[in-house]
Amino acid sequence: MPNPKRRHSNTRTRKRRTHDLMTAAQNQDCPTCASREVHTPLRRHRVCPVCGHYKGRAVLQIKVKEKKPKA
Ligand SMILES: [Zn+2]
Repeated sequence: MPNPKRRHSNTRTRKRRTHDLMTAAQNQDCPTCASREVHTPLRRHRVCPVCGHYKGRAVLQIKVKEKKPKA
């Protein structure tokens, strides 16, 4: 069985674990949707999938699915 030759120091363990802390992604409401009184939670630096705006500019054309008429 492989076994570590020397014990890690507390400092070495703690240095490794400085990168372990993760925080949940913070969501913001899309400001363009909010002006239309639609609540769209959005991750930072992402284009809004509902209105296609980023930083108040339209960057995507959102296609609206047409509903099939029931036969
Ligand atoms: Zn939006």
